[in-house]
Amino acid sequence: MVCTSLPERATAVEKQVLTVLGATGSIGLSTLDVVARHPERYTIFALTAFRQVDKLAELCRQFLPRCAVVCGPEQAKLLAEKLSDLPRIEILHGPQALEQVAAASEVTTVMAAIVGAEGLGSSLAAARAGKRVLLANKEALVMAGEVFMSALRAAGAVLLPIDSEHNALFQSLPAGFEYGLKHCGVRKLILTASGGPFRTAPLESLAMVTPAQACAHPNWSMGRKISVDSASMMNKGLEVIEASWIFGVSAERIEVVIHPESVIHSMVQYEDGAVLAELGNPDMRTPIAHALAYPQRLESGVANLDLAAIARLSFEAPDLERFPCLQLAYEALKAGGSAPATLNAANEEAVAAFLDGRLRFDRIASIVERTLTRMPAQALQSLEDVLATDRQARALASEALILEQKAA
Ligand code: NDP
Ligand code: MG
Repeated sequence: MVCTSLPERATAVEKQVLTVLGATGSIGLSTLDVVARHPERYTIFALTAFRQVDKLAELCRQFLPRCAVVCGPEQAKLLAEKLSDLPRIEILHGPQALEQVAAASEVTTVMAAIVGAEGLGSSLAAARAGKRVLLANKEALVMAGEVFMSALRAAGAVLLPIDSEHNALFQSLPAGFEYGLKHCGVRKLILTASGGPFRTAPLESLAMVTPAQACAHPNWSMGRKISVDSASMMNKGLEVIEASWIFGVSAERIEVVIHPESVIHSMVQYEDGAVLAELGNPDMRTPIAHALAYPQRLESGVANLDLAAIARLSFEAPDLERFPCLQLAYEALKAGGSAPATLNAANEEAVAAFLDGRLRFDRIASIVERTLTRMPAQALQSLEDVLATDRQARALASEALILEQKAA
């Protein structure tokens, strides 16, 4: 399969006009940290949040965007009150407004950093409008890989991966890789994973894990949902699916290795035995700055890597008994069609239940597995099919959660 991220078209853009979707989140704030270092290169068109009105108001004061988007009319009213002395900011709300600011004609570049399936609509709107799409929202690709990649292709949009692993792979591949990795002598892609906070915890202790423990990632500071996914290694499973779409490779040619130091962000194994990697401190400002500036380089605020202080890098194979979610994701990728969308929806429901104290951490995988078993993979023809799969999988996952609670 041919990849469509078209990096050669991503020529340097002197002054970029940005929409930051999910501005108040971990990736959104890191993006704005990098942007603030280079005011001569970036103008903010729109900033979006969901419910964190105070934080968004602060960001609006700092970056003076043309538009700000929140989830509903109440939040919009509150934001308008907080910004009443800044009349030039247009305040909008709801999913359509997210799509509108992602596709606006003034915008050159969209940072797609809303978490979960809720980010699909606006990420897709940016792709359809032919923007430079800086994609952090991996769930969009997992759910709707075919639809998303077709939209990019049709609009001549550019996809620059923000996920550190995919950004590392992008940096370790030669120009022209979108014409097929085999053509570039690539044998396989190796995604690194930290193994999260429970890599060495006794297996029996996983039943008692609290949300605070699951969100305390040893190396990366991230939002709550992705932190839980990292602890279960579903995050790596989602990334395997994400890599298969971005780089056009099958599951067999994507390997996962645990690398607890998170210094190597991923690797490309070539046919001649060479392995190319991207290394750095675990700080998302590096891939963000890379994608913002590509094909140039930008100062990002990230400290130099001190290899002598790190001293050694270690690796181990993932233990699939400890991390069944990784296996489920590989199986969903191999099954194809609707299976990855089902996996994603069931996982989002299960993670939300875990964070609310309604599900044990070590039962997340069984909710996902039960949902996948009840929804055999079907071909997905359109966005409507993707959304129908998402709805059905959430309904089945909710049923599985009720059964789980009754059994507990
Ligand atoms: P956060 O939870 O920190 O931030 C999520 C952002 O999305 C916030 O701005 C939030 O607004 C907004 N948001 C939440 N729900 C909705 C909704 N229903 N509609 C509109 N906006 C919404 O997440 P992260 O920054 O950690 O992650 C964002 C994405 O990037 C995820 O897809 C994640 O997988 C991916 N990613 C993150 C990495 C990281 O290091 N954090 C690394 C690689 C990928 P509010 O603040 O108002 O709730
Ligand atoms: Mg990642």
